[in-house]
Amino acid sequence: MHSASQINILILDDDPFILKMLTKMLANQGFTKVSTCDNGRDALTLIDHPDTRPNLIMLDLNMPDMDGIEFVRYLVEHQYQGHLVLVSGEDERMLKTAEKLVHAHQIPMLGYLHKPVTPDKLAAILNTWKPHAAENPSPTNHKLYSAEELRTAIEQHELVNYYQPKVSVRTGDVIGVETLVRWHHATDGLIFPDRFIHIAEENHLINELTTLVLTNALNQAKSWHQSGLMLRVAINVSMDNLASLDFQDLVVNLVTEAGLSPQSIVLEVTESQVMGADARVPLEILSRLRLKRFHLSIDDFGTGHSSMAQLRDIPFDELKIDQGFVHRAWADATLRAIYDASLSMAKQLDMETVAEGVEDQQDWELLRQTGCDLAQGNFVSKPLLGAEFPNWVASWKQRVRTELLLQSGN
Ligand code: C2E
Ligand code: CA
Ligand code: CA
Repeated sequence: MHSASQINILILDDDPFILKMLTKMLANQGFTKVSTCDNGRDALTLIDHPDTRPNLIMLDLNMPDMDGIEFVRYLVEHQYQGHLVLVSGEDERMLKTAEKLVHAHQIPMLGYLHKPVTPDKLAAILNTWKPHAAENPSPTNHKLYSAEELRTAIEQHELVNYYQPKVSVRTGDVIGVETLVRWHHATDGLIFPDRFIHIAEENHLINELTTLVLTNALNQAKSWHQSGLMLRVAINVSMDNLASLDFQDLVVNLVTEAGLSPQSIVLEVTESQVMGADARVPLEILSRLRLKRFHLSIDDFGTGHSSMAQLRDIPFDELKIDQGFVHRAWADATLRAIYDASLSMAKQLDMETVAEGVEDQQDWELLRQTGCDLAQGNFVSKPLLGAEFPNWVASWKQRVRTELLLQSGN
């Protein structure tokens, strides 16, 4: 627990009434080391001096000279080490945007307060304060890997596939899986793809990586099929995979050799970078794969990378609504509008819809009520090793029956 009297708080607001009121509220809650400023310039002077440097700043967004957003940028330049609370009369969306900006600058934020501030809300936010959190960032592993290390990892098969189920929202049936690769690193443990896919892309290793992932996924699919689990298997395809026409031969050959039909394979495509001058090559590869009856899925739909232009140009079978627009869309009007629009667009184009990032029962309920076809996310299951899958399927069937995930409306 913190000791309220030890925290140095600075309130920055151009309204003298707010300064007085907040100071009083803070004093009532035991916070006595409080200073106030009515403009950004004075506040920065306080921040520069070790004696007056605050641990926490309560910042008004709307100020006449230097506004709150500009002030945040100066905070970074002045190497501010403390926390921040935003205080504003602006609406929810504006506050959220400001919150994202603060996060982007890596300044820890306790949250935001709407004006008029009430003592309860103030107390609730200050209770989340963890001293020293900013001074001692958690020792996460930020090690960067070289192309050479990754090449060796691919050659030695240190990359391992995990599989996350995609289930029918209406029936609960397990329809397929998405293959998600991880690096089982000999000394660093489990490494997630966000830390090495871009290295593969930048160093011409992405075709080797995808070949390994696909080969393993096809073997897994075969063994599931043999045990009666008819799962559709999706793999992630990078735009860099689609830079050369060899890729389509590679995929066709591997799938044919495995004795699987293209219909049981889904290729999830994101535009990880702006398509180069020659967008015809990816277009041609995807069209030809589609002609051979591979399923094409547009991944992360709604993010800047996956756009309507792609939807116009490529005959996708499936649309994956990005998890950023799914989780908690039931509680947030903006997310909900984007979720609804994506769903409706997919339906009009006769595409199957998958919602990613389904994390809790309320997310699941939203999908059910809005008629989304498939669900994927930790609420259903986290990504699993192939060998764990049969047991998970059994427990999922049990859950579908007992937790009544499908109750009314069917
Ligand atoms: P993605 O295709 O959007 O994959 C979904 C990510 O969301 C996965 O992260 C998954 O573990 C995570 N996830 C699943 N359920 C939930 C949930 O309920 N909540 C939250 N917050 N997250 C959830 P992961 O495995 O770390 O993969 C990250 C990205 O790496 C993938 O994003 C995909 O773009 C890329 N990736 C993964 N495997 C491959 C691959 O073999 N090749 C290529 N090119 N990219 C890959
Ligand atoms: Ca994906
Ligand atoms: Ca995605």
